[in-house]
Amino acid sequence: MSISENIKRVKDSLPEGVALVAVTKTKSVDEILQAYDAGHRVFGENKIQEMVAKWDQMPKDIEWHMIGHVQRNKVKYMAAFVSLIHAVDSLKLLNEINKQAAKHDRVIDCLLQIKIAEEDSKFGINEEEAKALFISEELKTLENITIIGLMGMATFTDDQAQLSTEFVKLQTFFNAVKDTCKLQYLSMGMSADYPLALEYGSNMIRVGSAIFGARNYQNDGKGGVE
Ligand SMILES: *Cc1c(COP(=O)(O)O)cnc(C)c1O
Repeated sequence: MSISENIKRVKDSLPEGVALVAVTKTKSVDEILQAYDAGHRVFGENKIQEMVAKWDQMPKDIEWHMIGHVQRNKVKYMAAFVSLIHAVDSLKLLNEINKQAAKHDRVIDCLLQIKIAEEDSKFGINEEEAKALFISEELKTLENITIIGLMGMATFTDDQAQLSTEFVKLQTFFNAVKDTCKLQYLSMGMSADYPLALEYGSNMIRVGSAIFGARNYQNDGKGGVE
């Protein structure tokens, strides 16, 4: 099936209110344009340089999401245009995003990445750390960022029971804090596991290979360190 057929199929299968981030890492501008021409506007990349290069070459009504681990010294390259940063995992990083957003007179939306996988390679903070961050005085001073939700990456496994355990953990935490912390989005689920993630309350899925086809392993970066 073509990219435009794939994206229509995924979109049509989603319940109302679920946001689809089409993950374009390693894919060419031509391939991404096929999804754009099918009407899609929300794309995700996991490396800042790659996202900046594509933003530069592509129509400016695209919403770019940074879904990968973010190094503080690279925030400045995307601060002018990034629409959502999914994998925020420290107050230090929030401070830097705030500082760079202020330079562009913007408020940048962020998600906190919560560690739910067993694998050591997955980034994120635990629930206690997230709670401490939410109530910290410092957070209140950061006027150029807004935390609008949580993000999680499950273990890379076919074991449905394990995936369910990880998803329900994040769903429970999200439901416990969403009202007091004014959270709107739970970003959870990728090509292989998004139908299950939706059952556990995800309302933002990040889907790459199911739309654009398999990536070549080298630049994948899935769950790996950068
Ligand atoms: C690559 C990636 C995805 C998409 O993975 P697929 O299995 O191709 O759908 C989702 N989230 C993150 C953080 C990724 O790096």
